[in-house]
Amino acid sequence: MKNRIINLVISALAVPIIILIIFSCHSKPAADRSITQTPRSSQNSSLTFVAVGDNLFHDSLIRSALMADGTYDFIPIYTEVKSIVQGADLAFINQETIMGGTRFGYTGYPAFNTPQSLAPALADTGFEIINLANNHAMDKGRDALYATLDYLDTFEQFVVIGARKEGESARIVTRNNMTLGFLAYTFSLNGIPLPRENPNLVSMIDRNKMTQEMNALRPLCDFLIVSIHWGGEYLLEPDRDQVSLANFIAQHNVDLIVGHHPHVLQRVDTIARPDGKTTLCYYSLGNFASHQRQRERIIGGMMVVTFTKTRSGELAISDYGMIPVITHYDRSFRNTKVIPLYSYTEELLANHGLRTQDPGLNMNFFYGVLNRINAKVIMHNPFTR
Ligand SMILES: [Zn+2]
Repeated sequence: MKNRIINLVISALAVPIIILIIFSCHSKPAADRSITQTPRSSQNSSLTFVAVGDNLFHDSLIRSALMADGTYDFIPIYTEVKSIVQGADLAFINQETIMGGTRFGYTGYPAFNTPQSLAPALADTGFEIINLANNHAMDKGRDALYATLDYLDTFEQFVVIGARKEGESARIVTRNNMTLGFLAYTFSLNGIPLPRENPNLVSMIDRNKMTQEMNALRPLCDFLIVSIHWGGEYLLEPDRDQVSLANFIAQHNVDLIVGHHPHVLQRVDTIARPDGKTTLCYYSLGNFASHQRQRERIIGGMMVVTFTKTRSGELAISDYGMIPVITHYDRSFRNTKVIPLYSYTEELLANHGLRTQDPGLNMNFFYGVLNRINAKVIMHNPFTR
C-alpha cells in the first residue's frame, strides 16, 4: 500500500486555488527512505505516468458485472492491465460516468450512473488520478455528482480532478522528488446547466479561466498536465477546435495534454512552447472499458510517459509512447476485459462480440490504426523486469 500524508495548502496567489499536496514514498518503505535516501539535489529522478481514456459503462457492461448475490464486481475488467497501471508511478483515468449510488438508478446510455463498486475496482487496479471533467458529469444532476465526489473522497488513494463541491480543482501531486500539477476541463455537459449556486462544480473549457489557472499553477510544479475532454465523437483526426485549443494550452508552457472524448484514438503531437520546450499532446486516448460496438471504438491507448529531473534541476519528458489496448467482450456481451494488444490473440478476436456484426474484423485492422496515430507503440509491459 502506498503511504502518503495529505496537507491542504491555500495558495497566496492572485487567483487563490486550493491545492492538494500529496507526499508519497510510493515504492519504498518510509523507514528505508529515512536511512538510505541521499540528498535530493544529488540524484536524478524519474517518474512514470500512465493515462487511459474513456471508462464508459453502458447497460450491458453494468449487467455483465452483476453477481449472483446482487452485487457488482468490476475488478475482472482490469486484471489484464493491472500490472501496467500498478507498475507506473502514477496512473490517470477519465472516469466518464458518475457513481451517484442506488438512489439515482443504475443506467447506461444516454444518462449514465454506474454502481459505486466500480470505485474499489479502480483503486484495486491502481488508478489514482480520477478525472470527472467530462460531458457526462451532470447526467443525473447536482446531487448525484455530489454523491460521487463524496464517495470518491473516501478513498485516500484517489486524487479527483475536474469537479469539486467547493473551491478550485487544481491539484498538485508530489512524488519521486517531483511535483506534478493537474488541471482538467470539459467542452460540454450535454446541455445540463451547472447549479446556479455552484457554477464551478465542473471545470469547463473557458480560455480566460484556463489562462488564470495555468499561469497560477505553472510556477508551483515541475510538470504541468492538462486533462481535456474535447473534440468530435468518432473523428479519427483532431478537429480545428482541438488543434487551436492545444496550441493555446501550449502557449502557457504546459508539459502534457491528456485528451479524451472522441472514443477513438487520435494522433500524438508535439507543439512548440514559448519557453523553448515542447508540449506533448495526446489528442485522444480512445475508449478504455466500454460496450461500444464499432471497430474503431474497441481499440484504445494507455499513454506511458517518463518525467525526469536531473540533479541540476533540468526537467524533461525523457520518453513517451502508447500501449494499445483492446476492449474485449464476448458474443453475449459478458467477460469484458481491457487487454493489451501485445496479449491479444486471434482466438480472442474470433470470440469478440463485435465479430457478429463485423465478421471482417481482423488483427490487421488494429495495426492499421496504430499507423495513423504517430505514437511510439509499446508492445510489451514496460514495467516488468
Ligand atoms: Zn465524453
